[in-house]
Formats: sequence, structure tokens, C-alpha cells
Amino acid sequence: MDQIIIENLEIFGYHGVFEEEAFLGQKFIVDARLYLDTRPAGQTDDLTQSLDYGEVCQFIKKLVETERYMLIEKIAEEIASGLLLTYDLLQKVEITVKKPWAPVRVHLDTVAVRIERGWHTVYLSIGSNMGDKEGYLDFAIDRLNALPDTKVTEVSDYIETEPYGDVEQDNFLNGALKIQTLKSPEELLDTTMAIEQEAHRERIVHWGPRTLDLDLLFYDDQILGTKRLIVPHPEIEKRSFVLVPMAQIAPWLRHPVSKSTIKQLLEELNAEQ
Ligand code: AMP
Repeated sequence: MDQIIIENLEIFGYHGVFEEEAFLGQKFIVDARLYLDTRPAGQTDDLTQSLDYGEVCQFIKKLVETERYMLIEKIAEEIASGLLLTYDLLQKVEITVKKPWAPVRVHLDTVAVRIERGWHTVYLSIGSNMGDKEGYLDFAIDRLNALPDTKVTEVSDYIETEPYGDVEQDNFLNGALKIQTLKSPEELLDTTMAIEQEAHRERIVHWGPRTLDLDLLFYDDQILGTKRLIVPHPEIEKRSFVLVPMAQIAPWLRHPVSKSTIKQLLEELNAEQ
């Protein structure tokens, strides 16, 4: 992707874990690599189609001058999220914060932290089979949209489905969502679990009734397997209540492991059943 590059932006600030650093201040140097599509600006020669790098420099300068943090990790994180939330054209940023006068009693050119942050495309499934089912699904969407670093960009129809497993229970209402988020997969899982808790989800029986269930289906085209999280969700291929709403909003999305499209997975599942 195209980039706008800012190098060695010098700013005097008051960050650090030592009292002296907060009192005397020191020099910080910031590099920013900004990822966006510069083609519209390149074709029209119109600044409003691009990012004003002068404005970006002022944004970073103001943040580093006025805030007071312990760590350069925190400075980098705040610059990254601040830029991504302020400038719609930005897809991704790489931020380096250097501290050449770091008081570590040895000679060095600089110490630095470098991070990469950006918007991620995620698909979620939502389901409910207790109480005001539609209300719970709407609630999940509202809570996601209320987060500063997440926006719901597509919502499927809500479909009524028969319960999965052997437990005798009410029909489900299911849907699929496409979201854009700055959160990592683990952070997003914490968020969806907190939203489930807020919806007073009660897990009395495994596979049993629930007010609200949120699952991470796809996170970009990443493949993850940790203790807490498997992405893509391992049950996608087996669940028509996931594939039917997903086929409405993303029929051509490819599963990063099987490489099949959602449409193909749904057709295969329908053929099996
Ligand atoms: P359930 O509520 O039945 O969907 O199960 C939630 C649990 O499954 C959570 O404790 C997660 O740690 C784990 N889990 C593993 N992979 C996923 C995923 N892709 N999305 C949501 N939960 C997941």
C-alpha cells in the first residue's frame, strides 16, 4: 500500500519513569509511516484527497508536548490510535518513538519503540434464544458501535434457526456482522465476552439457552490457535446458522485454511444435509 513517511520529528517532552525526566524534560524523536491510498490525490493533485502531513506533524507534536507518560510504548500507542481514529483515509500506521537521551548510564545513539497498528476486518456471528432475541442482537450491535475503536459496517438479516445439540430449548435468532476494529483478536474476545455478560447471559447447560452469544468467525485472513481463541472459528463449515447469514454479507470471502468461499461452504453443507 502507498505510504506517506515522516522521519525524525523532534519534540521536547516530559515522559519517563524517573522524577528528573518529568521535571527536566528531554528530546523525543518520532518517525511515522502512514499507509493509505494516495492514488486519488496523485491523480487530482488535490490535498483534500490525501493526508496533510503538516497537520499530522502538529498532531504528534501536540500529543508528545502536552501529555505525560511513563513509557515510550505508551506514547507510540497513543500516537497510533490517535492518528487512526482522526484520519479516515489511514489504513495502517507504523510509529517509532526514539529517546536519544534516555538516562541509562551508558552511551547509546538512541533507544526506541516501534509499533504497527491498523484497522482489521472481522466477521462475527451473533445469536440469541432467550427473551427478547431481536433486542439482544440489536444490543450487541449497539455496544460494538459504541466502542471508539470499532464500527459495525454490515449486518445480515436475522434468521430463525432450530437449536443445535440435544438440549430441549427455544429456536435461535442468528445473524452475522462485519466490523472494522483496531483491537487485537484477544482484545476483541474480551470485548465480546463483556458484551455477553452485560446481556446477562446465563450458561447453565453447555449448548443450552443463552441471551446472547458472540463468536469471532474471521479476523482478516489470520489463522490463530491459542488456549482462548481459535480463528477462523472451527465450527463455521458445520453451521448453517453461521453460513446462511455470512453468505448474505460475504459470499465471496475465502476461508483462509480451506480456501473455499462462504458460498461454496454453504453449498457443500446443504449437499451433505
Ligand atoms: P461459546 O460461548 O460457547 O461460543 O464459547 C466461548 C468460549 O470459546 C470462550 O471462552 C473462548 O475462549 C472460546 N473460543 C475459542 N475460539 C473462539 C472464537 N473464534 N470466538 C469466540 N470464542 C472462542
